[in-house]
Amino acid sequence: MLTSLAFGYFLSAVAVSLLSFGRRISFTNALTISIFLTPISGLITVLNIGRSLRVSRYITKYQCPQCKKVFTEPHFICPQCEEKKLQIDLHQIKHLQIT
Ligand SMILES: [Zn+2]
Repeated sequence: MLTSLAFGYFLSAVAVSLLSFGRRISFTNALTISIFLTPISGLITVLNIGRSLRVSRYITKYQCPQCKKVFTEPHFICPQCEEKKLQIDLHQIKHLQIT
């Protein structure tokens, strides 16, 4: 009886801690709060903490249409193709970066 209560308490603490994914609190912190301050306190804490910030921005890269190599720095002509005596203009490509 007591072990099943303790198991249910621990299981509900883990369930509350699973809600922490995608929020600005770690699973371990949510589990610690849920175990020591009851799962109800953990649930209130997790739900009051905001979602994780996702920052996205476009970065410009430069791709050679001949050899398909992508460069992060701007070049007038492809350095790799220049070694083969070819002068290929690089094309700008926009790359979405999510951090
Ligand atoms: Zn090239």
